[in-house]
Amino acid sequence: MPNLVGRPRREIEALLSGSVDAPYRARQIASWILDRRATSFEEMTDLPKALRAELAGPFEIRDPAIADRTTAPDGTVKYLLALEDGATIECVAMPEGDRATLCLSSQTGCALGCAFCVTGALGAGRNLEPDEIVGQYRVMARGLPGQVQRVNLVFMGMGEPLLNTEAVEKALETLYETVSPKRITVSTAGIVPGIRWLAGLPRPPKLAVSLNAPDQPRRERIMPIARRYPLDELLDAVRTFPLDGGRRITFEYVLIRGLNDRPADAVAVSRLLRGIPSKLNVIPLNEDPGHIPGLARPADDAVEAFAEAARRHGLVVTVRRSRGQEVAAACGQLKGRTAATHA
Ligand code: SF4
Repeated sequence: MPNLVGRPRREIEALLSGSVDAPYRARQIASWILDRRATSFEEMTDLPKALRAELAGPFEIRDPAIADRTTAPDGTVKYLLALEDGATIECVAMPEGDRATLCLSSQTGCALGCAFCVTGALGAGRNLEPDEIVGQYRVMARGLPGQVQRVNLVFMGMGEPLLNTEAVEKALETLYETVSPKRITVSTAGIVPGIRWLAGLPRPPKLAVSLNAPDQPRRERIMPIARRYPLDELLDAVRTFPLDGGRRITFEYVLIRGLNDRPADAVAVSRLLRGIPSKLNVIPLNEDPGHIPGLARPADDAVEAFAEAARRHGLVVTVRRSRGQEVAAACGQLKGRTAATHA
């Protein structure tokens, strides 16, 4: 039975064309699903009752089921969602005033094994389908506080989105129906062909790259995928990414004590990124001795010294205040169990 979730407007309307008596009916239903995030035909009160009952036979409107939901004192909500085949994923909503950032997963695990990441430590999973990606947005959007007017979506949850390009492309097309590409960021560990693919989309979203090291040897140590896609190739691909309207590439940098956190490392990063309109997002490691033993978060003054050195050398720097740590929803902490993640 086709699920109408995870499909753009044109596709929903085409699927329904044989089941409704006029095109405007199909448009009405697509609008209920995309604009109002309806979860059943029953909710579509401007459709004849008989039609609502008829449509519920051949079609479904199915989101992932909420298996668990945990709210941290700072308002961050971590969702554990159960998929049809029994797999589970996590996604995170971070409301702040009239805005919210929703962090989406693209796979049920991750094979890339970045040293700082709990998702990576737990191993590979399958690719998510477009309805499972868009469903995360729908579920989290329904749970947001009433004052939230604007959402940003980030593909920074479990998995590497650029290893699931087919589903990500369709999910993006569907999400664009209600969220501007300017408000959607796809984050990658550095899959070079994926970056080139994303750059070639008719409407690319924003790009974030998980950098995490100032040089190739350390990047290989922290991110094994760097052996396949070396830093110089990665930065060449990034330089081709379209940056209309003053956009910048976000480089994420998980700061790990004694490994990549010296002010001299910040200076080396600023040299690497010279000429690329960019923003460096410094993320002090979220420690998890059970899954990522031996890695420690630098002291606050070391974080500040690193950020300051990067700023002095011309970079735009933000230091991420990790949200949701109390519920293990911060970067690198998503497990898809009861408990992603690109930096
Ligand atoms: S940081 Fe991203 S790419 Fe790396 S292991 Fe975690 S989920 Fe995978």
